[in-house]
Amino acid sequence: MRLANLQGRATLMFETGIVDVEEASAGEFSPDVQALFPVWDAFSAWAASDAAAVATVPAPGPLGAALEAVVPRPGQVFAVGLNYREHAIEAGLPIPEVPLVFTKFPSSVAAPHGVLELPTDQVDWEVEVAVVIGRTARRISQAEAWRHVAGVTGSQDFSARDVQLLGGAKPQFSLGKSFEGFTPLGPVLTTVDEFDNPDDIVLETRLNGESVQKSSTADLVFTVPQIVSYLSHIVTLRPGDVILTGTPSGVGLGLQPPRYLVDGDEVTTYVEGVGEMQHLCRAPEVPFDPIALLA
Ligand code: ZN
Repeated sequence: MRLANLQGRATLMFETGIVDVEEASAGEFSPDVQALFPVWDAFSAWAASDAAAVATVPAPGPLGAALEAVVPRPGQVFAVGLNYREHAIEAGLPIPEVPLVFTKFPSSVAAPHGVLELPTDQVDWEVEVAVVIGRTARRISQAEAWRHVAGVTGSQDFSARDVQLLGGAKPQFSLGKSFEGFTPLGPVLTTVDEFDNPDDIVLETRLNGESVQKSSTADLVFTVPQIVSYLSHIVTLRPGDVILTGTPSGVGLGLQPPRYLVDGDEVTTYVEGVGEMQHLCRAPEVPFDPIALLA
């Protein structure tokens, strides 16, 4: 099943067309995608039935700009740092012995297509495969992990490197990665059963058409089952929570000299089985200046 958030309405995406969830279910299921995760078992059973497919109508042309974040209001957004070996090497940091987890604040969630405002001149790209929790997960094993995942989507962990590293010895990952628009989610959510191997999903960033990052989740240091199980022994993972699983090598910070996003850049984010997101970068009239703000 592929689920989209089309102008605020939960929409199933089939080869033959689209289905409005609320209409086709005669109001049994909410048009709000976020409200589907707490009832994911019932919803996904209905979505897989003939009752859903029979309501298919042709898509009204390309959906790009009409798509909103496929998880619009996650309760929690986790991200895993240095989770691809080559990326840890390019960052000049040791490969972690346990997952290096930080938060991206949910207000940074954004649509899969649109404008990315660049608050500073050191905004970097980080394509990531994101998983969305579909069942409450508390102290679960690795073997149980995928059964607690509603599906997979694409993300960018956009990062203002200068802000991320403010504070010297105690860098502030969470704020530097949580500016408005820094966590696009989409274009759709694809359920785990759609993947031949959910632990081998290709992901890529293209910058102005040029491939700058390309890898597969088969290269993760800590796998999705390891991350979900590990987190569930610390926090309760709730339906609709999102976990970004890490970025492969090829970020701007790792280039010599470093390269960051500039006004007019086009970032294309690809995740196998999920599709592409596109963001156009724009420099704001007034850049973020922490020293001036605090004067
Ligand atoms: Zn990241």
